[in-house]
Amino acid sequence: MVLVLVDHDHGVLDELSLQAVTYGRELAAATGEQLDALVVGADGSGVAGALGEHGVATVHVAAHDGLTDYAPVAAARAASEVAARTGASVVLAAGTPRGNEVMAHLGAITDLPVAADCVSVAPGSPTQVVRARWGGSLIEEANLHGSPALVTLVPHTVAAEPGGSGAGDLAQFTPELADGDLLVIARPAAAEEKAGVSLADAKVIVSGGRGVGSAEGFAPLEELAELLGGTIGCSRVVTGNGWRPHTEQVGQTGTKVAPDLYIACGISGATQHIAGCRNAKTMIVINTDPEAAIMGYADYAVIGDVSKVLPAIIEEAKKAKAG
Ligand SMILES: Cc1cc2nc3c(=O)[nH]c(=O)nc-3n(C[C@H](O)[C@H](O)[C@H](O)COP(=O)(O)OP(=O)(O)OC[C@H]3O[C@@H](n4cnc5c(N)ncnc54)[C@H](O)[C@@H]3O)c2cc1C
Repeated sequence: MVLVLVDHDHGVLDELSLQAVTYGRELAAATGEQLDALVVGADGSGVAGALGEHGVATVHVAAHDGLTDYAPVAAARAASEVAARTGASVVLAAGTPRGNEVMAHLGAITDLPVAADCVSVAPGSPTQVVRARWGGSLIEEANLHGSPALVTLVPHTVAAEPGGSGAGDLAQFTPELADGDLLVIARPAAAEEKAGVSLADAKVIVSGGRGVGSAEGFAPLEELAELLGGTIGCSRVVTGNGWRPHTEQVGQTGTKVAPDLYIACGISGATQHIAGCRNAKTMIVINTDPEAAIMGYADYAVIGDVSKVLPAIIEEAKKAKAG
């Protein structure tokens, strides 16, 4: 059985977990096994129907008073319980900070090795994996010993697609938590709650780097993002300077995105930034330096000062919108 750990935000399924479910379905089909999912938290039962449409046969829901918010060790404990009970051969999660963290705890609880950030998994003895290392600049082929194989999948390795004939049956249980499993519970900070499109799912991202100059310099980026129905992204220099929150950082230590359009304003294109946006379908670059590394990834580039180029683009976007 292939078991996918599905993350959700109070009942709203995480898109990257659905990608892991799609990949898990392919693995299960290749090995002739059943695809199950584990959802942690009382709200999890609400997502069973949706997971059934993605080919999940049984949705195991770990319900516990302490599991309403993200509790990584307790989530891993629940995963170890389901994996043992069902005899899972593979346990898979999205390679997000949360997916990787829960999987690391699962590895510690089961004393099994973990292969994080895989782009390909071939179950067997040993399981053969291909992993993206150093933000994707190095591709590693590795053998993973032990059963179940504990793996996480690089975001956007596959697109999330419904399919399969899963019933989405519900198996609710109360996990047996050990002392200390609930010592770490992450609750969302009110300041981080933001309306609008989420960065990971955005189709259009207007992203700013050091070249934007200041927190105030992001005003035209916000205006353009709103005009295009998109959202704001940024580089680590920007979050480091406190111009924008970390939730907007794109890259190796930020969010990995795959929008239709990525507009990079005053960003040099360090490998750690590109690791997060290389899956953009179209990239427009605005930069004063024609030799900037990011030019190598640009579909279109404007060589110029972002504070002058953006107002011109905004004007054209407004005209186009007005018809
Ligand atoms: C372990 C590790 C993890 C990291 N993770 C990340 C990550 O997740 N995300 C990330 O972004 N970085 C990450 N970094 C940092 C990364 O290495 C770079 O330092 C960072 O991405 C650079 O940000 P930047 O492009 O905004 O700034 P810079 O590299 O300083 O580039 C600024 C660019 O703006 C241009 N510019 C200047 N003025 C203007 C103007 N007026 N108009 C137009 N263009 C202008 C310049 O020509 C230049 O190309 C990480 C680094 C390490 C070591």
